[in-house]
Order: sequence, then C-alpha cells, then structure tokens
Amino acid sequence: MQILLVDLKRQYSAIEKEIDRAIKRVLASGQFILGNEVSSLEKEIAEYTGVKHAVGVASGTDALHLSLLAIGIGNGDEVITTPFTFIATTEAITYCGATPVFADIDINTYNIDPAKIEGKITKKTKAIIPVHMYGRSADMGKILKVARNYNLKVVEDAAQSFGTEYNGKKIGSIGDIGAFSFFPSKNLGAYGDGGMIVTNNDVIADKVRMLRHHGSSQKYFHKFIGYNSRLDEIQAAILRIKLKMIDGWNEKRRKNALLYNKLLKGLPVRLPDGKGRDHIYHAYTVRMKNRDKCSRFLSENGVSSAVYYPVPLPAQEAYRHLGYSESEFPDSYKASREVISLPMFPELEIAEIETICSLLKKFFCNSKMIMSYSGKVEMS
Ligand SMILES: *Cc1c(COP(=O)(O)O)cnc(C)c1O
Repeated sequence: MQILLVDLKRQYSAIEKEIDRAIKRVLASGQFILGNEVSSLEKEIAEYTGVKHAVGVASGTDALHLSLLAIGIGNGDEVITTPFTFIATTEAITYCGATPVFADIDINTYNIDPAKIEGKITKKTKAIIPVHMYGRSADMGKILKVARNYNLKVVEDAAQSFGTEYNGKKIGSIGDIGAFSFFPSKNLGAYGDGGMIVTNNDVIADKVRMLRHHGSSQKYFHKFIGYNSRLDEIQAAILRIKLKMIDGWNEKRRKNALLYNKLLKGLPVRLPDGKGRDHIYHAYTVRMKNRDKCSRFLSENGVSSAVYYPVPLPAQEAYRHLGYSESEFPDSYKASREVISLPMFPELEIAEIETICSLLKKFFCNSKMIMSYSGKVEMS
C-alpha cells in the first residue's frame, strides 16, 4: 500500500478527456501567448473572486513580485510578513530591493498574528503581506485595520488558498491585491507554472498588465522596463476547466479534513483550526512533539507526509544577514519543529484516511509504551 501526499494522476484521470480537448484546442488555434484562453480565464477568475481585474502571470512568485512593484515597493522600503511561509513570499520583497520584516504567527492558525504587526512598523514600512497558510484565511479584519491606521498597502499571498473565504468574501479580494499560484500541486493547479493577481484597483491592474509584458500595452511601445511574465494559453485552457471543479474539490478537501479530525480526536496532536469556508485544507497539517519520528513511521508504512516548513525564513541561510534570533519568533520556530502535513487531495478515499489514522493511533500507542519507561510527559 502506498498513499501519496498529493496524487495528481487521480485528478487527471477523472478529467482527462476535457483536459486533452482543451490542450488540442489551443494547439489548433496557433495562439500561445496572451490570447483568448488567458483573457477568458482572467474574466472568470475576476468573477469568481469578486474583483474588477485579474491578470495572469508566469508564477505565484511573479504574481507577488509584480504586485509589489505595482504598488511602488522599491529600494530601502520595508514589507512586513510572516516568518512561517514559503520563501517566495519574501523573495518577491527582496527582488524589489526592499527588506522583509517579520512578525510572528498565531500558533493556532499558523498565520501572521495581527497583534504583532504594529510593533514592527517603521517609517520605511510600505506594505503587509499576510499569507493564508495551508488554505486557512489570515485574520484580514485586524490586518486591514492596522494597515489603514498606518497607510500601508496589503498584498495577500493567496498561493495556498484559492476559494478560501473570509467573512463570506473570497481570499485575494480583501486587501489591495491578491496573488495566486497555479503550481501543479496547489489546490487550483496548472500542468506547469502559472499565477494570477486580482485587484479592484484600475491603476494597479494596468501596471501589472504592462509589467508582465515588457512594460508595454501597445506592441513595441515600452513605457518602462518590465518583464516577460505571462501565463500561457495552454495553462489557461487547463485552468478554465479546473476552475469549474474547484468548489467541489475544496468541499471534498473539507470533508476529508472533518473525517481526519474525527478519527484523530483524543491523540496527542493539535488538529487544524478551521470553521466553515475559512479553510480549504490545501494541506491538512497537525502539530505534535515527536513529528520526525512519526513521519518516519508513516513512511515505513507506505504513507507520505511533508513538513511545510522545517526552517522559519529568518533562520534560512539566505536571510541570515538580517540578524534575527529565534527568541523573536517563538511560535514560528515551534511550528517548524512540530508541524506535519498528512495526505490531502480531493480524490483521497475514506478508507485511506482510516488507514492513515489507525497508523497514527498505533504510533502513539507504541510511543506511549516507550514514554512510560523513560517517564517523560508528552504534550496533548
Ligand atoms: C507556492 C507558493 C508561492 C509561490 O508560487 P509559485 O507559483 O511556485 O511561484 C508563494 N507563496 C506561497 C505561500 C506558496 O505556497
């Protein structure tokens, strides 16, 4: 038996005919860059997220980078974000010549703690990037309040949370800009790289549209130096099909999470924090003291798991020069040591979740016997 963390082949086999037809349609059209598929997908995603503009770009990282450029982030500026995220969030800041400034997370949601933002604001601060980790919405109400008080822009890193809602509004549409990733394993994933920015702001949308296309809105006329960062037609055609399925898939993720929650109750693990549509369970992530041992045990029994992420960004070699210390971000470090993500995708079967959970029960039963010898007390 082998249970993968994410099994993309199962999804493809369910939608194979439609996908193949869409790819062929693009091949036959002879149009591969910025054609009808991208503009249609942009309209459909703008409608889905409830915003005026959506702009397709080459990746989630570029969506963040071009968003920051579009709001004028540059040399010497500071952008506040979470230490507990994928490095793309802060790479985008660094690309602009700005400095990432970290505010610790709320250990219950793994998202930036709004109460810790204000103390990090300086004269140089220009923006906040909340990340909706694992598909769980950040506390946007409080984040927007701080941002308004200090006149800061808010760029949502929604790479892990397509379809997540906050108070009935789609994630990405709440701050000034939202950045999505269509990396294949994201909950709305292409078959290659891709990304999208969404915004209600006409000026920002225009700027991103030009930034992705060599600073140009009219062929061979360049207002500024831009980039080559376009979503391609084949990926857009694939995503248009998957967009129609995303609500059903997210619902299945939530069902899977509820089953996990039910079966893991009573074990010494911290279950994810989610209510209603504020979590789409891009990852099903729990916390426990003996994470590495548990991951090895699962792997020996054919179950894949992952650690997102084992090293907080301030401790990464790439950011060591910023000189942060562990004591500034206790909850991010704790999360890095204790989180483990279990298999999660819409096509995961009930029987598979049952198997994973009985393995976990066995693991904790075994480790309790070892503990009673060593006399150590475990967390719950
Ligand atoms: C995946 C991811 C990104 C980057 O997306 P790419 O499309 O791989 O460039 C950015 N931020 C977070 C939180 C992510 O999970």
